[in-house]
Amino acid sequence: MIALKNKDDDEPTYTVPIRSQIPTQKSCKKPIKMCSFCTSKDETPLSSNRDKWPICKIENDCFGEICKLLDLADRSKKPLMSALGSFDQTTAAYIEKKYEREGGVGTAKKVLCQWGSSNHKNNVGALKKILEDTMQRIDVVDEIEKWKKLSVCHGCGIKLNKRQ
Ligand SMILES: [Zn+2]
Repeated sequence: MIALKNKDDDEPTYTVPIRSQIPTQKSCKKPIKMCSFCTSKDETPLSSNRDKWPICKIENDCFGEICKLLDLADRSKKPLMSALGSFDQTTAAYIEKKYEREGGVGTAKKVLCQWGSSNHKNNVGALKKILEDTMQRIDVVDEIEKWKKLSVCHGCGIKLNKRQ
């Protein structure tokens, strides 16, 4: 191995491509990508910070996993609807009755969608905070973190193929 030596540096510098042109502090930012449909519609891309995304833009499979975990209600320190806080008893009872045939997963889906669309501040970041602080469901937060690593369209939220 060829090692070049710097005057001021005892560490050998190997002949690898220098990446000093790339600003390293910004390297965690992923490029904003969109599916061909959203690109053709000239859709305004969502923030690169996915905590700011609306709940309904979480990719379908990931959202399904999140709801499945939330169905394991006895793991939660506080039930979902009272933790989210925007459901009065009548509404909560109505939702539970209406979606009981679909089980807890159906209820969680309905509840999260409704909560997320009722106020634009009820985004992914707000949900994460409730999951961590109020419900103590780190397993669900982990699922959200997995979604954050997934390559998704910043317009509609669908999963993107690697090549897109
Ligand atoms: Zn899209």
